[in-house]
Amino acid sequence: MIRKTVTPVFFIVVFIIIAFPCVVRADLINKDSLKNPQILSNIILKQSEDKDPLTAERLLLTAAKIYPDNPAIYFMLFKKTIALNPTGFVSSLRYLYKGLTACRDNFWWRFNLRGLLIATIVITFFLLSLFIALLRLSGDTQLIIHEAEEDLKNASFLAVIPISFFGLPYLTASLLFLAFLNVRGNSRLTGYVLLALLILVFPLGRYLDRYIGSGASPALKAAVSINEGLESPSFWGQIKERTDFVSRFSYALSLQKNGSFDEAIKIYKGILSKKRDARVYINLGNCYAGQGDLDNAGKMYQEAIKITPLPSAYYNLSIIARERLDFISGDKLFAKAVKMDFQRITRFREVWSSIDSMHFMSERLSLPELLRFARKIGNTGKGGALWKFYLFSIVALILIAILYIRRKSPGDAMRCPKCGKIFCLRCQKRLFWGGMCSECFRNMITFETNPAERIEHILQTYRYREQRKAVLSVLTYIVPGASLILGNRFLAGTVFLTSFLFFTLLALLSRVFTFNIYPYSPGWLTLLSVLMMAVTYTLSLIYTRKRLKKGWL
Ligand SMILES: [Zn+2]
Ligand SMILES: [Zn+2]
Repeated sequence: MIRKTVTPVFFIVVFIIIAFPCVVRADLINKDSLKNPQILSNIILKQSEDKDPLTAERLLLTAAKIYPDNPAIYFMLFKKTIALNPTGFVSSLRYLYKGLTACRDNFWWRFNLRGLLIATIVITFFLLSLFIALLRLSGDTQLIIHEAEEDLKNASFLAVIPISFFGLPYLTASLLFLAFLNVRGNSRLTGYVLLALLILVFPLGRYLDRYIGSGASPALKAAVSINEGLESPSFWGQIKERTDFVSRFSYALSLQKNGSFDEAIKIYKGILSKKRDARVYINLGNCYAGQGDLDNAGKMYQEAIKITPLPSAYYNLSIIARERLDFISGDKLFAKAVKMDFQRITRFREVWSSIDSMHFMSERLSLPELLRFARKIGNTGKGGALWKFYLFSIVALILIAILYIRRKSPGDAMRCPKCGKIFCLRCQKRLFWGGMCSECFRNMITFETNPAERIEHILQTYRYREQRKAVLSVLTYIVPGASLILGNRFLAGTVFLTSFLFFTLLALLSRVFTFNIYPYSPGWLTLLSVLMMAVTYTLSLIYTRKRLKKGWL
């Protein structure tokens, strides 16, 4: 029954919005639609999606006027206007900038973007460490085997493998440790740094865990919605029973906005018995005013001013003064409120003056308060024991220490850069120029071998080099930076691999972190990430191919 009546009404509203944007702009300010500017702006936003750019821009500007705090409106404006023409590019960039600023002031957008960034960093780092470890081990396993064959004691490092069973961070740590055992010189620094950074994954992972937990929390959604101006009673069930300040305040605000003044007064008084907060006094005053008790309302505003002088207290007092026909002090109080926060007062007046001159200004919770509340709500207290972090830190530091102590060892196996043969100082008593093996040395420098043997060795060397080159050039196309890391160019390789992983994950995860902003997603960010991914890929290709051609890898 309700649906049957609502649907045609909805379509009529939508039709009016689409067909007569100018009419709508003039007509929008009516009591019912203003009760929910957020919902209304979302309806317009949805409708603009499949419109031509000009119509869409007009519609979206209307939506932005109704509810300026929704970043999705500006991002859609950016998307719609960017294709118009090159001269309009600057103005569409302005929309993008406006959207970004709005993200700072909009709870869910800020929440999602922050979560997205942390998740991307954590996962990028994990994948980077695993990638580097596996890449190195693909070649270095043979060295480890050779060392073990020479002396079984050398295999003792493999004892690190069982710790992998403690979880992904431990697995990554043990693989990194083994992978960097045979890395020489300054490149070993990468190993130390990666192992040390792995420690940070614990607190960041915990933070992320809480984040996702709170993103899905109905209580948080209720508190945020109410403080954003959606005071619907449908949220009451989620926060009614909660005893914290944010929940009590939000619940009372919602009751007050829905006209349940007695109930709201009771809760506000309860809050005040524990914590004196100017905002609570102001809202309490509004409840009294709603009941027609202007004397008590005025007292509450005066009480609020004693704690923190807020513009809303002066504004509400000015309404009471004017109501009592005391226009002189009414004007004075109003001027004081405007002086304190011009934007807020004018915006409020713009909306309410024509509808209800007796509408009092309420106080809501700030964004930082709600963000803190989110952090608290996500803290379920499970799984985040501190000893786990300490244990892992100790393990990681021990691995770094062993890696450092073992940086120069005479028993280390080496790979001949010419022919790929594996040897060590046990099976080959002396070290030759360029780190080559004894065969290569005899063939190239002393010519001690007979011609047939020499030709055989040259062919073998040639085959090794061709094979290696083929593997490296294929890898160059698959994963940026991978062939650089295999070719001992750690710094450049890590930079390419990190930025490629980061932007790939950012593009993918930007579609996931859409808590309570669905169906909108930061499409501009996805686009930007894909673009940066392509740039990284191309740069890495140019850089690596040049070095491959010159034989530097
Ligand atoms: Zn050799
Ligand atoms: Zn050996």
